[in-house]
Amino acid sequence: MARLEAARKKTEAFVVAGGDLKSKEAVPLGLELVNAFEDLARDFGYEIPVPIVRFHFTCECGAQLQVHGERYEPNFRVGGGDSVACPYCGKGHLLPTKPLRFFSREGTAWKSHLLD
Ligand SMILES: [Zn+2]
Repeated sequence: MARLEAARKKTEAFVVAGGDLKSKEAVPLGLELVNAFEDLARDFGYEIPVPIVRFHFTCECGAQLQVHGERYEPNFRVGGGDSVACPYCGKGHLLPTKPLRFFSREGTAWKSHLLD
């Protein structure tokens, strides 16, 4: 409860100071509000679905890759293990997420790949 109230006050102060909630600077505030709300909901025993984030990037070999994964807490540092290997050249790509789905571009479609 205190975490949610602190996040709300910080957001209010940001807005009062002329901050734009849609700006990049507001992202940490928004994430903290969402996380604080989820913490509180868990205190009530609610299950919170983990938000899915999408990463779209190009491998050094030119392959277009896309990973859908679970969002990590802000400032969470991945030490290793959460990576995918390019299906064309084998290069590993470390990701700031736990990969759930992995795709590569095949013409106009996305080909799905199995994860280890
Ligand atoms: Zn590659």
